[in-house]
Amino acid sequence: MPSGRARAARIPFVAANWKMHLTREAGVRLARDVVAAVGEVEAPEVVLCPPATSLDAVGRALQGTPVQLGAQTMHWEPQGAYTGEISAPMLVDLGCRAVILGHSERRQYFGERDEDVGRKVRAARGHGLTPIVCVGEGRGERESGETDAVISRQLTAAIAMLAPDQLPALVVAYEPVWAIGTGLTATGEEAARVAALIRAQFGAAAAGRVRVLYGGSVKPDNIGEFLEAPGIDGALVGGASLDAGAFSAIVRAAATAAR
Ligand code: PEP
Repeated sequence: MPSGRARAARIPFVAANWKMHLTREAGVRLARDVVAAVGEVEAPEVVLCPPATSLDAVGRALQGTPVQLGAQTMHWEPQGAYTGEISAPMLVDLGCRAVILGHSERRQYFGERDEDVGRKVRAARGHGLTPIVCVGEGRGERESGETDAVISRQLTAAIAMLAPDQLPALVVAYEPVWAIGTGLTATGEEAARVAALIRAQFGAAAAGRVRVLYGGSVKPDNIGEFLEAPGIDGALVGGASLDAGAFSAIVRAAATAAR
């Protein structure tokens, strides 16, 4: 089983989930501050995922920089009568390179089901977007010992419609739901254990190439524990990504860990 030692073969990945925060002007300002702070840092792939309303403006601010643009969700159909939705070709048109799919807030508040995530992952890959697939157990599921079953179920559905050659490009974020926005975190040891479980579902050819992130209250002062965890290749960052200083400190930590 590939472990942390195989990480050198995988480029670290740090994504910012701005959620439903910031108007265009504030988003562009934050994007510029992030670029100024991390623009010269080598190694980690850095993706900013602003709300849909700011994708165009933030995308323009990121043009010509190594920092990439990503979205927070999308629909699985390329077009159609789906009021309020945005499709993969529309994200590509805006310059997006990645898209967060199956975030627990989409599952919890917007009824996104495992099979919907699978359709979205297939559509994203089909249009050349990197899916950042979120999986994670709720607090009750953790307390009743269902963590592994939940992760396996969510991931099985997420990758079910992909051809084997589409698997290595995936990024999977292990985000325990009880850790998101709470200040609580999993331990590095728990994150490593779940990362191994995630990789095991990919089969020999893709397991060593898929990047696995940890997400859930990541801050500059705890990122080190996760970057040291075998099999963890970076982070999906919510709250701390709204602060250019905190986010760039996390990116720099990932760059250092990669050396
Ligand atoms: C997230 O929403 O993906 C997330 C990890 O949020 P936070 O860092 O705020 O816990």
